[in-house]
Amino acid sequence: AKVWTLRKHFVGFPKESDFELKEETLPELQNGEVLLETIFLSLDPYMRAVSPTLMKEGDVQIGAQVAKVLQSRNPAFPVGCNVVAPCGWRTHSVTSGKEIFVLYMSRVIPDWPEDVPLSLAVGALGMPGLTALYGLEEILQVKPGEIVLVSAAAGAVGTMVGQICKIKGCKVVGSAGSEEKVAYLKELGFDSVFNYKTITSLDEALKQASPEGYDCYFENVGGAFFTAALNQMRPRGRIAVCGAISLYNATTPQMCPFPHMTMLLKNIRIEGFLVNQWPEKDEASIRRLLTWLKEGKLKAKENVTVGFEKMPAAFIQMLKGTELGKAVVKV
Ligand code: NDP
Repeated sequence: AKVWTLRKHFVGFPKESDFELKEETLPELQNGEVLLETIFLSLDPYMRAVSPTLMKEGDVQIGAQVAKVLQSRNPAFPVGCNVVAPCGWRTHSVTSGKEIFVLYMSRVIPDWPEDVPLSLAVGALGMPGLTALYGLEEILQVKPGEIVLVSAAAGAVGTMVGQICKIKGCKVVGSAGSEEKVAYLKELGFDSVFNYKTITSLDEALKQASPEGYDCYFENVGGAFFTAALNQMRPRGRIAVCGAISLYNATTPQMCPFPHMTMLLKNIRIEGFLVNQWPEKDEASIRRLLTWLKEGKLKAKENVTVGFEKMPAAFIQMLKGTELGKAVVKV
């Protein structure tokens, strides 16, 4: 089996030389364990965000995959079924499915339609899709007619946030980092989109996109964007803190200016969340997302790189945001 390990802790933006490809001999299966063959590996920003706290140099890079069960000593995961597993960057794994904190092993729904790519089990119909759904329903509790702002809108989570907002009858404004992304989001039905890299003033861009302000903000980036968005919230506005990608590669701790008085005078509620908070809802939620996909209400674009050896390069590309679509690697 092949594995990618963390050779050196990241300093700032990850480099390909921070990773090392190694061979691994797999142990015998114990009771409760399965042998998995990876089909698709997911590439997600949390791998950068949690690396300094959860990983040591030499550890296998954390991550999740869609995999097939080749051998099983666990009746919940019989031979031949597909699973989403938190086994890290490995071609094969022996696991009981409890490796990392936010993810656990789950079966891909057995009636997964043949015409739906299996890779979506780590994308629109998996962790990023569920993140969007739970952020909107459990945290923001969006209502029809409300105005929702989402940052990193062209990403795996953001595209789902915007499309689910439209299903729910909200007005949605997104920000993204290229003209190609802006055009794509308009195609998806976003009411207004701006390129945060080419505007002269974030405050003005936010005002122009929605002069009435925002009822909800789905926060993915942190930093100056968070402060600017907070200033544009309507009274009793809600903010779901999902991520802070603009801070993950910072070499010194970053604090964003926090306008206490805005929060206080406008009665703003800010709540952070992790996608793993509602495991009992996951299967039904995935089925809802699948139904919307089948009905054409959701579109899922992917950026598939072929080859396990390309994992570090594909990971770095995902963090830079140069490509459109959820980043996955076909092993
Ligand atoms: P994306 O697919 O959105 O990929 C990351 C994107 O972030 C890039 O494409 C890039 O797009 C944008 N980006 C990179 N650097 C910056 C920057 N400095 N400022 C603004 N945008 C930047 O990733 P995901 O959709 O998977 O994740 C989005 C966010 O959600 C992340 O913060 C992630 O950590 C968080 N998350 C949280 C979860 C939870 O449980 N709370 C679960 C899953 C994700 P662009 O070209 O627009 O800059």
